[in-house]
Amino acid sequence: MLNTGASSALRSFLDILFPPVCPLCEEDIQLDSLCLCTGCLNSLSIFKIKKPACTVCGLPFASDAGQDRPCGNCLSKDPPFIEARSAFIYEEAVLQAIHAFKYKGKVTLAPALGRLAAEASIFSANPGLVVPVPLHKKRLKERGFNQSLLLAREISKSFSVPLDYSNLIRVKATEQQVNLSAEERKRNVAGAFEVKDRGAFKGKRVLLVDDVYTTGATIRECSKALKGAGAKVFVITLARAIKV
Ligand SMILES: [Zn+2]
Ligand SMILES: [Zn+2]
Repeated sequence: MLNTGASSALRSFLDILFPPVCPLCEEDIQLDSLCLCTGCLNSLSIFKIKKPACTVCGLPFASDAGQDRPCGNCLSKDPPFIEARSAFIYEEAVLQAIHAFKYKGKVTLAPALGRLAAEASIFSANPGLVVPVPLHKKRLKERGFNQSLLLAREISKSFSVPLDYSNLIRVKATEQQVNLSAEERKRNVAGAFEVKDRGAFKGKRVLLVDDVYTTGATIRECSKALKGAGAKVFVITLARAIKV
């Protein structure tokens, strides 16, 4: 272990050899920024979710009027999670950043995106465990990484709570949800998740992490499995689709 002086000297030296770049646009950046350049941070922040929003599922309301309150969907049926929060609306710059991260393998975006998601998420209770939405092992092999796990790792650091990525598992190799309707998505993920060690979640406040909340089918199905194992579930997604 290097002492602080030596390690910052080493860092400065490495910065000269390999100047840090913004993982989105590849411009040079200051190392102590949020790992993204100011331009990219600004284009993402246009899509930050603003109040008023649903106090349960986090959906922002179309009108600026009024206070945070439960939305019609959450009033008519309780979701299997306690609260869900998202940092951004899933559009334009946010959509492009998530596509670069997830489909173009820009995993260097994980620290910035994970921290942005954590900073935007305020819950009524502190979580005790962070759990990513799992990928089926077949999909994991194709993609090479689980984007939700990379985000969850950063979120677990931000909240200073442990990460459990092995006890919620995906037992069905489901079809990609992208081109499916809300009803098809629900059917597609039904029974897709299981809990391996039920004791891992019993009595815990679990923070479930995914990249995007679209219809909520995947989030709800994971939440049901966690709730069935005795967890109280809270949800963070980086982005929320509002036109679904
Ligand atoms: Zn940039
Ligand atoms: Zn709601």
